Amino acid sequence: MAEPTALVWFRKDLRISDNPALANAIESGLPVHCLYLLETGKTAWQSGEASKWWLHHALEDLRANLKRSNLRLTIRSGSPEREIPAVLAECNATHLYWNRRYDSESIKVDTQLKSSLTDQGFSVTTSNAALLHEPFRIQNKSGKPFKVFTPFWKTCLTRKIDLPTETRIHDAKPPKEFPETLALEDLGLLPTIKWDATFYEYWTPTEAGAHAALESFAKDAVCDYDLQRDIPSTKGTSTLSPFLASGQISPRQIWAQIARKHPLNSPDVQRYLSEIGWREFAYHLLFHFPHTTDEPLREEFKHFPWKRDEADLEAWKTGQTGYPMVDAGMRELWATGWMHNRVRMIVASFLVKHLLQPWQEGAKWFWDTLVDADLASNSLGWQWTAGCGADASPYFRVFNPIGQGEKFDAEAVYIKKWVPELSKLPTKYIHRPWDAPKEILEYCQINYGEDYPEPIISHFPARERALEAYHRLKNSKLTA
Ligand code: FAD
Repeated sequence: MAEPTALVWFRKDLRISDNPALANAIESGLPVHCLYLLETGKTAWQSGEASKWWLHHALEDLRANLKRSNLRLTIRSGSPEREIPAVLAECNATHLYWNRRYDSESIKVDTQLKSSLTDQGFSVTTSNAALLHEPFRIQNKSGKPFKVFTPFWKTCLTRKIDLPTETRIHDAKPPKEFPETLALEDLGLLPTIKWDATFYEYWTPTEAGAHAALESFAKDAVCDYDLQRDIPSTKGTSTLSPFLASGQISPRQIWAQIARKHPLNSPDVQRYLSEIGWREFAYHLLFHFPHTTDEPLREEFKHFPWKRDEADLEAWKTGQTGYPMVDAGMRELWATGWMHNRVRMIVASFLVKHLLQPWQEGAKWFWDTLVDADLASNSLGWQWTAGCGADASPYFRVFNPIGQGEKFDAEAVYIKKWVPELSKLPTKYIHRPWDAPKEILEYCQINYGEDYPEPIISHFPARERALEAYHRLKNSKLTA
């Protein structure tokens, strides 16, 4: 009879280091099988195109890293309910290991699978690999989930943070035989139309790439984080988000590395770690309020008077709104699969407040185009901007896309990079090209309105319209 084995099911944890599921499987002493299953049949929030691009490369890297220890990544596609029992049988696996997920659809799949496999006599071990603190372990004094970040994070800071798990990959026992596998290419993750060519200039989507990014940020950029984090033309942030989203690095590893190099009480370090805290908060909300991926947390916003308009949405998506800072951000997103956080807030505010488009439309576009698309952080970011979520920016606070550009991109370095048709304009006019005199436009050889669009909406009337919509919502709530 074939010898019993252990199966590790990789999901959002595409790494070798600090991977408790893999570490536990190796620790069991059984031969170790590794599986990635492209889940079909998901009803909502299937991976977007940019995430699929990242996933392809992350799987390629994971496969190579496992191979170095004579382990093989088996790749399959199908529903977990069908495929997991089938692979367990093919591997003669008696033990199954995975790291936990926190969105409601995955929780349902995992809970049912664990229960049915346990009933059949399998040993199923699940662990935390994605968070510093699991959402069900943090609660307020009344035993309820938090809805405000500051007390949430203060509570987290009183708890012990586990050190990264050591994965003794070289002790892993390879099995004698392997089950059938698909080729990575069979998953069809890479785009057929090559819009991703520029991504390769910006990213090294591997586990080593994650650690190189962390190392470089932890070396010195973190010491100036508080000041630099808002300047989109500098590399003032860690750009670790896509690695976190795919699980190529863990927040525990980030925490440990920063703590090794810097005193944790330095204001810049505290500020940086509090951003990791926002990610934790996003997962807390996703777990406790699962409907907030699609619906506002604040119920009254279900009745918000949005003005759906395909042309406005399209102009926003393609970076053709006529507001240079907004267009720069949307073009950065398209070219790199990433956008600076300050600019995410500006473009999101512009969509929901200036254009009155539903935040869900923006969330969907980000989901499709971000390499760091993350259901928890994306839902939080959009609800925060729209003013309808937990601890959100108040609806009446409307970001001024001109003022934000002048403040955070004073020399217009960021705009010049992403909106090159304006690059010859003097900085004085670049944030507001409609104010540029005709002679200056001519001198700069800009055919304004042709080479670059006039604003699709005027700032002050748009602001008034947004405030009016908000007041209408507030009054209808009062009279309801
Ligand atoms: P750093 O400044 O280096 O921060 C370190 C890490 O902290 C980030 O990698 C991220 O994991 C976390 N973090 C930082 N800011 C936030 C935040 N505001 N909320 C939650 N976590 C945060 N982030 C995503 O990872 N995926 C998304 O899909 C996503 N969608 C967003 C949508 C909107 C409308 C907004 C306003 C923000 C969104 N964010 C999202 C949060 C934030 O913009 C990115 O995490 C950040 O820009 C990533 O860059 P970084 O890794 O250099 O961040």
